Amino acid sequence: MTTTAVPAIEADGLVKTFGALRAVDGVDLVVPQGSVYGVLGPNGAGKTTTISMLATLLRPDGGAARVFGHDVVAAAPTVRGLIGVTGQYASVDETLSATENLVVFGRLLGLSARQAKAKSVELLERFSLTEAAKRPLKQFSGGMRRRLDLAASLIAQPPLIFLDEPTTGLDPRTRAQMWDTIRELVQTGSTVLLTTQYLDEADQLADRIAVIDRGRVVAEGTADDLKASVGTASLQLRLADPADLPVAEARIRARVGVQPVASAERAWLTVPLQDPDRVTDLLVDLRDAGIRLAEFGVQKPTLDEVFLTITGHGADTTAAEAEKDEVLA
Ligand code: ATP
Repeated sequence: MTTTAVPAIEADGLVKTFGALRAVDGVDLVVPQGSVYGVLGPNGAGKTTTISMLATLLRPDGGAARVFGHDVVAAAPTVRGLIGVTGQYASVDETLSATENLVVFGRLLGLSARQAKAKSVELLERFSLTEAAKRPLKQFSGGMRRRLDLAASLIAQPPLIFLDEPTTGLDPRTRAQMWDTIRELVQTGSTVLLTTQYLDEADQLADRIAVIDRGRVVAEGTADDLKASVGTASLQLRLADPADLPVAEARIRARVGVQPVASAERAWLTVPLQDPDRVTDLLVDLRDAGIRLAEFGVQKPTLDEVFLTITGHGADTTAAEAEKDEVLA
């Protein structure tokens, strides 16, 4: 008999409201076991709220979710035994040292004193925290805390690990180290769900990606699927005169049949193209319309493009800025 592995996560129509705000507005997700799953979205998109429901920290107002087949509400204690959430750990006591914090976690997780000490030495070494091992946590920088967080979640190495923006604010070396650690976790049997605002991080690490915007999944697939969905090339234009934007958009729609993504503030237009040969026709049309260009270029679609095309705003745009863009557009 063949058995299909139950997904690490299945969410059906998850909803969370805060007053009038539907922070999570019907999210469906399927995360296969043994993969890195990336959840991308701008600030306020609902990523953290979604994770909090999956990790049993918030009760959904609608829909359902299962972790390895266990309902996150009805079987919350079982689910808690299967997951690790960074951000929850490493702060037992701010006055304790890094080593002491890790030892406390190790003991709480059932290791002997000797095992807990050995594990903390190993993990501190792995995250280049050996020199800071004896310092109290309150003297740690943000980056050091993040590394200690991940170290703490590795003591037990649960089957499912939630990493909420694990590399935000880290220097490039530590970021690369985090990426290696995340890959290692998956190679040794864990499933990782990570949220990120860095599109290159999702591109490099995630087997599949869900793009969340305003509480909904607006696209899902591998990085290549998502890139292919916006076209084979992307034309970037900057107009010499921002007042020409409406005419330029109309010409582009007429020629290639797609709605370009516009940033009114900087007079930038991004045009996803299925056929890069149309670029010449388009440039001639713009010249005929008397529109002068300050810059232009053609590139392969990146995840940034995908994000812009799908959400109409950049990954680093906050919801408030996105709303402002909409008003301007
Ligand atoms: P970020 O990248 O900034 O962490 P996010 O995608 O994780 O963003 P959430 O933190 O899930 O977004 O927030 C989604 C929306 O819900 C936001 O508008 C936020 O202000 C709101 N929100 C989150 N938690 C609460 C709460 N406890 N009470 C009221 N509103 C909340």
